[in-house]
Amino acid sequence: MDFSPAILRHFLAARFLRSFKDRQALENWQNRRMQIFRKSVLAKLPLYRNMADAPLDEFPIAGKQFVQDHFKDLNVLGLSFDDALRQARQGVSPKGYTIGMSSGTSGNRGVFLVDDAERKHWAGVMLAKALPPGGLLKCHRAALMLAANSNLYRATQHSGRLTFRFFDLSQGLDRHREALEAYHPTLLIAPAHVLALMARQNWAIQPERAFSAAEVLDKREANIIGRSWGEPVHQIYQCTEGFLGITCRLGTLHLNEDCILVEKQWLDKERHAFTPLITDFSRRSQAMVRYRMNDILIASPTPCACGSPLQAIARIEGRRDDILAFPSDQGGMVLLFPDDVRATVLDAAPAASDFHVRQHSPERLSLSLEGAVPEEQAKNAAAKLAEAIRRVGAKPAHIQTMPFMPIEHHATKLRRVVREFSLMEDAQ
Ligand SMILES: [Zn+2]
Repeated sequence: MDFSPAILRHFLAARFLRSFKDRQALENWQNRRMQIFRKSVLAKLPLYRNMADAPLDEFPIAGKQFVQDHFKDLNVLGLSFDDALRQARQGVSPKGYTIGMSSGTSGNRGVFLVDDAERKHWAGVMLAKALPPGGLLKCHRAALMLAANSNLYRATQHSGRLTFRFFDLSQGLDRHREALEAYHPTLLIAPAHVLALMARQNWAIQPERAFSAAEVLDKREANIIGRSWGEPVHQIYQCTEGFLGITCRLGTLHLNEDCILVEKQWLDKERHAFTPLITDFSRRSQAMVRYRMNDILIASPTPCACGSPLQAIARIEGRRDDILAFPSDQGGMVLLFPDDVRATVLDAAPAASDFHVRQHSPERLSLSLEGAVPEEQAKNAAAKLAEAIRRVGAKPAHIQTMPFMPIEHHATKLRRVVREFSLMEDAQ
């Protein structure tokens, strides 16, 4: 596809026109866009038709299961979930549309529908926000390395000054080395652990900007990547549900509130931790209204020095199901956030180059440390972890130390802290 006028229009609008002088100006813009979205999209969908004028907080909260159950009433073509999934598997789509597939971590497949105009909008906005200063005055070669296998990414393959190439990580990482080194990407987008691995192995590439996408960016990995390629690593907060955020020139992650509306569902107000509910007023073939992400975001308590009124995010801490949960002394459950687990383990065992914590049941965890870790440090890590669990008010838990199993499959998102059982509030 050529760099079409539509992509260029969205690129220019997002890069140069859509700057808001303050939060109020941004919210006014969102309100206007929401009005249009309610009239032109929601009023046409069976699920929302009768409530298109209702306050947003009266709309049901959606999740993966909700979308699967109501798919037919959420898309303008009236496609059933099974038909959409079948077409996606066969690689066919209705004319003018793309049906994409996403793999759930629990194994259940998701599907989504976008039309060509939405794909161009996505590509234009993404480019506008991702390109370094100078934009398209220079030629850029972007490499996107994800296990998405989604035809959404075909939108920008050949676009004049920008070449865009997709490397599918579900085929493994090593097989891409030769091709990626020959391609010499100026923009490189990949999961953090893949960037860190390429940096450690000294791949012969020198991207102007590297973006971590699709998983939590660990501080140590950020340092390794930064040391290799000169600039602090940038972040894209993007998933099959949409393009949700990206770092500004100062390296702060901002939510794309010029394209989406974000409600904060607080997990812990003191630590500014929330789960975002996303309403995407830029979409029109499939409605995404109050879609609850599985992520824990930490809101930045102060505005970013770049001056943008788009919500600044201090960090993405992990997924809701990375939060460990324990029975409390007082009844009910208490939570231990993955960042606290990370800090506790790595402080107690500085010789560990990596670690995994798995919570198998409310009372039972396993801890594995990578590298030549002295036994004393390993014991200390388990003891400190037990202390951290007690500190949040939980009953004592049993912690078993296990040998470290490196992940072999780069298609899998790297999660260092995982809770393996569900809580009531996970169900949706
Ligand atoms: Zn900023």
